[in-house]
Amino acid sequence: MKNVFLPHSLADLWRHWENEPAAAVYAGGTDLFVKMRSGAINPPSLICLERIEELKGAEEKGDFIRIGSCATHAHLLENSLVRKHLPVLVQAIKVLGSPAVRNMGTIGGNLCAASPAGDTLPPLYALDAEVELRRQDDSRRLAVKDFLVGPGQTLIGQGEILAAVWARKADGYNLHHYEKVGQRKALAISVVSLASLVRLSSAGVVENVRLAWGSVGPTIVMCPEAEKALIGKRLTLETLRKAAVYARQAVSPISDLRADAGYRRTLAGNLLLRLLACS
Ligand SMILES: Cc1cc2nc3c(=O)[nH]c(=O)nc-3n(C[C@H](O)[C@H](O)[C@H](O)COP(=O)(O)OP(=O)(O)OC[C@H]3O[C@@H](n4cnc5c(N)ncnc54)[C@H](O)[C@@H]3O)c2cc1C
Repeated sequence: MKNVFLPHSLADLWRHWENEPAAAVYAGGTDLFVKMRSGAINPPSLICLERIEELKGAEEKGDFIRIGSCATHAHLLENSLVRKHLPVLVQAIKVLGSPAVRNMGTIGGNLCAASPAGDTLPPLYALDAEVELRRQDDSRRLAVKDFLVGPGQTLIGQGEILAAVWARKADGYNLHHYEKVGQRKALAISVVSLASLVRLSSAGVVENVRLAWGSVGPTIVMCPEAEKALIGKRLTLETLRKAAVYARQAVSPISDLRADAGYRRTLAGNLLLRLLACS
């Protein structure tokens, strides 16, 4: 049995954490408890962040939507600001885990777990999102792409929490698409995923595009060459096939129990071709 402290405010959290600096913080626990049960980690005590109101909800802040780190996936699916301005994130959350996992799991937990298969990560890369990190007397913002440094590794420091995620509104794009391929249709960890944002002119020409792949490298992979290959072109099978060649060169997948590296590399390109069906 571990002691679990449930602060109701950030002030409470800092006071408690100062006295028990080795305590592990968590939100929904859907990742942390799996790791504890497997024996991978064994913190002396726990601090649950889920009752801290300052870490919940989503609000409009200029060009960004600021999402509290402890907002659950289920909450974000229903949130009108997120639905309006960040549809690619909504699409990703819809296929994350099961209803039970979405009810407990949080966006902050998904980011801090830093799995290359984390479903919110490719959309957050495509959206140029930033994280807001807080410690008792300090706060800082970092691009998500700099925050995530490897599988399970982030730049979060000792005594620091992820307070919020700042996602840039995607209003300038008219094609928002997230697709993941897993070993089955539901409750599957991604074998490869792709978040795409495309701005098409009224004539159907690509004016801007952001592409971010999951599960094909130690962190999320972006491919400026593939994006460049699409700009100024129509989304035809031919242009997408050319961009897919760059995508397959950019990824560095591993083989594991879910898929082998060659399959993942092929799929990373093939997922781009799916944009044909969306345009
Ligand atoms: C059955 C099952 C299916 C799943 N399916 C998927 C899936 O399809 N796609 C997917 O992406 N994930 C999946 N997951 C993983 C998990 O549910 C998600 O990553 C979820 O978003 C984690 O959120 P959480 O709040 O539960 O994290 P927690 O378990 O609370 O925390 C995860 C890690 O982040 C740290 N942490 C959490 N919040 C903060 C914070 N605010 N500040 C600092 N550190 C923090 C914790 O210390 C811990 O190390 C699945 C898990 C299970 C059990």
